[in-house]
Amino acid sequence: MKPDNFRKYAAEVVEWMASYMEHVEEFPVKSQVAPGDILSKIPDRPPLKSEPFEQMMKDLDSVIMPGITHWQSPNFYAYFPANASPPSILAEMIIATLGAQCMIWETSPAAAELEEKMMVWIRDMIGLPPEFEGVIQDSASNSTLAAILTAREKATAFETNENGISSYPTLRVYCSGQAHSSVEKAVKICGIGRKNLVKIPVRDDYSIDPVELEKAIENDIQQGFKPICVVAALGTTGTTAVDPIRRIGEICSKHNIHFHVDAAMSGAALLLPEFRWMIDGKEYIDSLVFNAHKWMFTNFDCSAYFVRDAASLIKTFEILPEYLKTRTRGQVNDYRDWGVPLGRRFRALKLWSVIRYYGVEGLQEKIREHINIAKQLAGMISNEPDFELLAPVTVSVVCFRYRPAKHDEATLNRLNEKLNHTLNDSGKIYLTHTTLDGRYSLRMATAQTNVTLNHVQKAWALIKQTARNTSVER
Ligand SMILES: *Cc1c(COP(=O)(O)O)cnc(C)c1O
Repeated sequence: MKPDNFRKYAAEVVEWMASYMEHVEEFPVKSQVAPGDILSKIPDRPPLKSEPFEQMMKDLDSVIMPGITHWQSPNFYAYFPANASPPSILAEMIIATLGAQCMIWETSPAAAELEEKMMVWIRDMIGLPPEFEGVIQDSASNSTLAAILTAREKATAFETNENGISSYPTLRVYCSGQAHSSVEKAVKICGIGRKNLVKIPVRDDYSIDPVELEKAIENDIQQGFKPICVVAALGTTGTTAVDPIRRIGEICSKHNIHFHVDAAMSGAALLLPEFRWMIDGKEYIDSLVFNAHKWMFTNFDCSAYFVRDAASLIKTFEILPEYLKTRTRGQVNDYRDWGVPLGRRFRALKLWSVIRYYGVEGLQEKIREHINIAKQLAGMISNEPDFELLAPVTVSVVCFRYRPAKHDEATLNRLNEKLNHTLNDSGKIYLTHTTLDGRYSLRMATAQTNVTLNHVQKAWALIKQTARNTSVER
């Protein structure tokens, strides 16, 4: 494709993008296709001869768009936000154009140094102490994997990397039953074994019970296990409950255990001074992950991983084949040593664009607004006698259920599941569920980039009306 053709098609694509942003609310939020629908519309064999680009754009609308779930719709309340924003998208276009592999400093010094500085900006924006250094990972899952691998190496004098895992006592990792599944995945991958992930009970507010945590750790030590890492949730996946950082930190410090904090989604609230209570005890934290690609308006992927001791992280991942030896080694950050992949995208450019476009105050304003909307929604729910909140609202996630009088728990679960499906099938809003103490809970995250109170008021009217028209099957 010649530059002039590119210019013409790019203009068309940008028009498509802007028009999508304008009309995103007109699509069914959750894709309504059945399994195989899209598959059957894609040819079994690739074209042998060149096809016009126009054909691709036509098929984008007719074949692909029906199978898209619209995460950028303000009527999207499911899972967690995966927010994009215009400044982030514009930077992403430039990143793709440069196509730079940012594995080491020499393969694009600007990428390495911008990443270093962006991590300083974000570290200060979320109130982490200045001794922390950061690196951009593709996901919170990989950040947590990096944390547990580092914990494993620190606890085994960096010998597991050398000899394999067998020569040490059985290692143990701790989190609550409400922690994200990425903790379990990491423990499986790094050879510790799922059986050695100890899930600690939670308190009434769904945060980890530190008394139970300490008991479990001390009991394990007595039994000959070696506790190496506690993963605290700064915002659990189900209800965004915040584990008590200071109490856990004291326990970790006493037993020389790596303390990792998963702030993947709720970490964005740390931009607000009034939410800094969530990391009270931060002096105990060894590592923390915060996904800018969730609630900080930076399109996927962009996960900020912070460590107190970068040397341990690098020692865990470093590898130096002949072809990667450079003259600048040691003077600069070669980020391929800070995580699993060698190849790395120039993700820092998105952060630069987003933070400069909105400014810290602009970001704070948006996040504060989302939290305020969640609070208002919680108020609307508690005003209705046939609905109930099922968990405290910490930031921007509201858990609730429909509870008309005189139904047993099993019936209520079926009723709310049916309600959830009816709402999602309407295409008007999309929300997901969680289970809390065996109760099926609807769950709304009010944190999409463009969500307003007006959207949530309309959603709530729809939920009430649909619920009261939903019959219970016996
Ligand atoms: C979303 C989420 C994750 C996983 O994030 P990825 O970047 O998709 O790996 C982990 N922990 C928490 C608390 C989350 O909300």
